Amino acid sequence: MSAAMSGRVVFIGAGPGAADLITLRGAARLAEAEVVLFDALTDPELRAHAPQARWIDVGKRGFGCATGQATIDALLVRLAQRHRVVVRLKGGDPSVFGRLEEELAALAAAGIASEVVPGVTAALAAAAHTQRPLTRRGRGRSVSLTTAMTADAGLDANARHADTEVFYMAGRQLGALARKLMAGGWAADTPVCVVSRAGCDDAVASEHLLGGLAAASVLHAGRPAVVTVGVGATAVAPRAVAAAPQARGEADPAQAGAPVLAA
Ligand code: SAH
Repeated sequence: MSAAMSGRVVFIGAGPGAADLITLRGAARLAEAEVVLFDALTDPELRAHAPQARWIDVGKRGFGCATGQATIDALLVRLAQRHRVVVRLKGGDPSVFGRLEEELAALAAAGIASEVVPGVTAALAAAAHTQRPLTRRGRGRSVSLTTAMTADAGLDANARHADTEVFYMAGRQLGALARKLMAGGWAADTPVCVVSRAGCDDAVASEHLLGGLAAASVLHAGRPAVVTVGVGATAVAPRAVAAAPQARGEADPAQAGAPVLAA
């Protein structure tokens, strides 16, 4: 079949765990799929959205690849040449540590149309689970998403990039990550949160000071985890709000120009 007659590939972010964290658009596109290539981290319950499709597991586990990236790229192209809608279902968001660049490039080279549907990335699910906002007014103005691993150097976390840094793929080397971060300028008493299987019913969260992060390894062993470092790892302090006006005729302090609550 010529490229002109090819179908299209839809990359869908499945969200970080529980099947109900996929977006409505993601679920709707999934329902159109003839073939679904999925990752190990996606919830099997998502199959209910596309029972008609052929599901192919191309999951990568840990640092080894169950299916090599080049094989996935070639498979996507071949399937799109034979099917109307091919879905590439990825855990979290496809644009975050999802090898999306390689797969888009392979499709572009073959003249195959593609679409990307965003998903909830693990960092956001972790923030939701712990109720610790990633940004904070005034003191938490930037967030970085960083992989703790590099292809050539292994664990790498040298410089401090943002007020809050979220590390992916660090689960196996928390002690080493902490040492790198302290060498890179983070204080030993920096707050850190680790959340594994964020977004799932069995999510586990723990809080630490950077100097004691190694202790988190046992708690989260064998589970996908993100490590949030800095302002966004701190708990929200309870703070009373000013009472709203109770009855008609009562002065509204906001309207009256009085301070509602000092920040
Ligand atoms: N595209 C995915 C990330 C894939 S890289 C996303 O946007 O979330 C795989 C890494 O993501 C894991 O090593 C782990 O650090 C993180 N991760 C994936 N799912 C997770 C989850 N449910 N809870 C915590 N971390 C998760």
